[in-house]
Amino acid sequence: MSARYRADQAGARRRVVLQDGVEGFHLTFTRECRGCCELGEYAGLAHRYDFDAKASCYIGSGCHECGYTGKRRDVLWVPFSYEEMPHVR
Ligand SMILES: [Zn+2]
Repeated sequence: MSARYRADQAGARRRVVLQDGVEGFHLTFTRECRGCCELGEYAGLAHRYDFDAKASCYIGSGCHECGYTGKRRDVLWVPFSYEEMPHVR
């Protein structure tokens, strides 16, 4: 099966990833590692960590979960259109 591409709502070209028959795409982003970055409610402890402006997340102190980088790559599946989502019965 060859890869298909489709434009998302912002006009960016995305590789189509099917999930339960709905066309969507993978959004990858960087966020702080929850294993070693304890921000607490309202980020009250944020001053204890470095802020990565490029990834716009905090960097934890490092643990085995994130490979001692303090941040993790995360992937989120997003549908191209919410109208294509199956209706909840
Ligand atoms: Zn970690």
